[in-house]
Amino acid sequence: MSDIVYLNGGFMPIEEARIPVLDRGFIFGDGVYEVIPVYSRRPFRLTEHLRRLQYSLDKVRIDNPLNTDEWTRLLGEIIQRNTGDDQSVYLQITRGVAKRDHAFPKGIKPTVFMMSMPLVTPAPALVESGVACITAQDYRWLNCDIKSTSLLGNCMLRQLSVDAGAAETILFRDGQLTEASSSNVFIVRDGVVLTPPKDHLVLPGVTYDVVIEIARAREFQIEVRPVSEAEVRGADEIWVTSSTKEVLAVTTLDGKAVGDGKPGLLFRRMHALYQSFKQDHMRTAA
Ligand code: PLP
Repeated sequence: MSDIVYLNGGFMPIEEARIPVLDRGFIFGDGVYEVIPVYSRRPFRLTEHLRRLQYSLDKVRIDNPLNTDEWTRLLGEIIQRNTGDDQSVYLQITRGVAKRDHAFPKGIKPTVFMMSMPLVTPAPALVESGVACITAQDYRWLNCDIKSTSLLGNCMLRQLSVDAGAAETILFRDGQLTEASSSNVFIVRDGVVLTPPKDHLVLPGVTYDVVIEIARAREFQIEVRPVSEAEVRGADEIWVTSSTKEVLAVTTLDGKAVGDGKPGLLFRRMHALYQSFKQDHMRTAA
């Protein structure tokens, strides 16, 4: 749990942070958010996270309350005020406080909230063993590219895997892979890495972009194209990616072994490359 949080212009202990019950984030889930991993007190891919934040804000028509320098300064401050070199910084902007009415109110000030939690990446044993996943139909809305705080669909889908003792729920819509409840998905078939393109059905993951960038730079065979449910079920490897999971191998899907039931060769290569990418980033990030 974070000790010191930021709320609407000030830093305070989390116990003291209060928002009015008419905040549209509370009433409607009317807000957007970001989760930024911090390694050795340096935010990873900050520019890309702030760009995606701007994209989400534009989509829901909330004016960005801060500019890039202000976000960067605030982020630096929340990192400094919290303990631990590796942190996961959560930031959220809601439309603000207004009498309850579905239509967007005019002239209100967005609520800005930021907190930091310890960054817990997969333990080495989990990277070695891989994780179990289940599948479900993707019944979320058709604006999954917006990083919205309205996450009830994702929470319900994630709970299915919790109930099944699995790490993630991989989602299919109309027979095609979309993503997982809080991660993007890659598969490997016959030595080729496949992942669906970014569109309104998936969150444009920052980790997804890094994995594609590494794959292209290191001459993996990679195709960004629609991936069918049948291709996923017959895959040699499946990976899930996110800022906190990084790259993680899926070794069983709905109780059936993926490939030989162990993290695959291409996963091992990608995982190692991702770790060195991070190290390089920590050396060069401001
Ligand atoms: N897809 C969904 C639905 C997510 O919630 C997340 C992250 O939380 C991701 C994908 C991965 O995004 P990122 O790599 O930026 O963490």
